[in-house]
Amino acid sequence: MLIDFHMHLGNCFRQEYPSGRRSPSIHQALDWMNRNAVDMAALLPLESPEVCWGYYLSEEAVAQRDLYPERFIAFCCFDPRMRQVPALVKTFVESYGCKGFGEALNGLAFDDDLNKVVYAACADHGIPYVFEINTSFCWDEVGLPRLEACLKEFPSLAFCGHGPGFWSAISGDDPRVGYPTGPITPGGAIDRLLDRYDNLWLDLSAGSGYNALSRDPEFTRGFVERHWNRMLWATDYFIANQQIPQVQWIRDLDVSDEVREAISSGNAKGLLGI
Ligand SMILES: [Zn+2]
Repeated sequence: MLIDFHMHLGNCFRQEYPSGRRSPSIHQALDWMNRNAVDMAALLPLESPEVCWGYYLSEEAVAQRDLYPERFIAFCCFDPRMRQVPALVKTFVESYGCKGFGEALNGLAFDDDLNKVVYAACADHGIPYVFEINTSFCWDEVGLPRLEACLKEFPSLAFCGHGPGFWSAISGDDPRVGYPTGPITPGGAIDRLLDRYDNLWLDLSAGSGYNALSRDPEFTRGFVERHWNRMLWATDYFIANQQIPQVQWIRDLDVSDEVREAISSGNAKGLLGI
């Protein structure tokens, strides 16, 4: 079974209409899943003004899940600067059946007090939190000290890391930006944090996740051996006809059936309680 832990629909490219990129419709997403043997996908709303030119609302993700409830899982996401975020999380988890929070992409520091209100609400409801770290979103410094402080402060919350500013920390020589290439040097923050905190998870989606796991195949072999039980197969599919290298990556991964099944769906099922 294959579960995509990270997909966005909505209308995130409305400024490019009619000739530019298009967000996929629910039907295009389903067609793409069928053609690539993806059984289920988590729909992650985008509700912060910095992230893109449009919003993908939690209500939309819920309504789309309700069309094909056996194929889609709805998350909720709210900007931490809104009032009453804990009440929104409670309603969307308890009444709308949302199984996670994210994708968090707000213009605050990772350990901003407003973000901590969201972490506490997600911890209260036992749902995982999917975030991107980037130079201006949920930002952090070399060594990810702000993320580490939150892993420590909210030990029952599953933090699922993603994005260039997260994955560049796989290497000891972390430039904090972009998609660094070439061999990974020991001493990266991600290995250290995974060893120290059992509430950190790895979202393998997007160019950032694929780049981190393909730039140094020898390192990747050991990294997968050490951390397969914290890896979540995911795509960040959010553009119609997007190329997704993760599909071939999981097929080609040289691991046991048990490990492949855990990365493909088992870890996600455990985290989402499905
Ligand atoms: Zn995303």
